[in-house]
Amino acid sequence: MNSELVHRELPSPNWDERALPVTMVVLHYTEMERAAALRRLTDPEAKVSAHYFISEEGEVVRLVDEGKRAWHAGASYWRGHKDVNSASIGIELDHPGHANGYRGFAEPQIEALLPLLDDIVRRHGIARANVVGHSDVAPARKVDPGELFPWDRLAECRLCLARPEKLELGDPFPNDGSFYLALERFGYDISAGKKAVEAFQRRWRPERIDGEIDGEVGAILFQLLLDRDSGKTR
Ligand SMILES: [Zn+2]
Repeated sequence: MNSELVHRELPSPNWDERALPVTMVVLHYTEMERAAALRRLTDPEAKVSAHYFISEEGEVVRLVDEGKRAWHAGASYWRGHKDVNSASIGIELDHPGHANGYRGFAEPQIEALLPLLDDIVRRHGIARANVVGHSDVAPARKVDPGELFPWDRLAECRLCLARPEKLELGDPFPNDGSFYLALERFGYDISAGKKAVEAFQRRWRPERIDGEIDGEVGAILFQLLLDRDSGKTR
């Protein structure tokens, strides 16, 4: 670990032992005022934590050692794993969230996130498809970090998958059932139904989040799976 990437240690007691190797990163927002968020993330009564917290000014605080299982994802699912906490590094972004006036993410925060994430992804050999939002792994319950999170900035640095550009024309899925099966194959928990479609839209087509399966979201999903099956991504 490059020690310059972490500015402060604030150990949280809210962790236990991992049951799986690290293969994912889950990004969150705190949805509360900073001091309250840090109190909660270190409060033994709250039973929540994350490995890192990044303030809007770009201060990176380490709360839990990466070797331990932090408690950030709750009941979650991604690509066959239900114990997302065991398989992931959790990063909380200081942000008011949807509940307190949703807005774009602060530039210093993103500038601190990019090198930290780069370091994490390299050290653990994490697949770009496994750098996800909380809403991707818990679509029925969560919407963070939300549609204004700059996934494109991460993708430019090859830290997550980019939104597919060249799309096949037309709707590649003949019916909703086949779209859902593909969505599950990509990684989502489809038992959330329309909420899973909303989570997919929030991440991949944030201009319209309505839970409806249209030709464009179908084409995006189809291309993502094609890229993965062809070995372009993993
Ligand atoms: Zn979250």
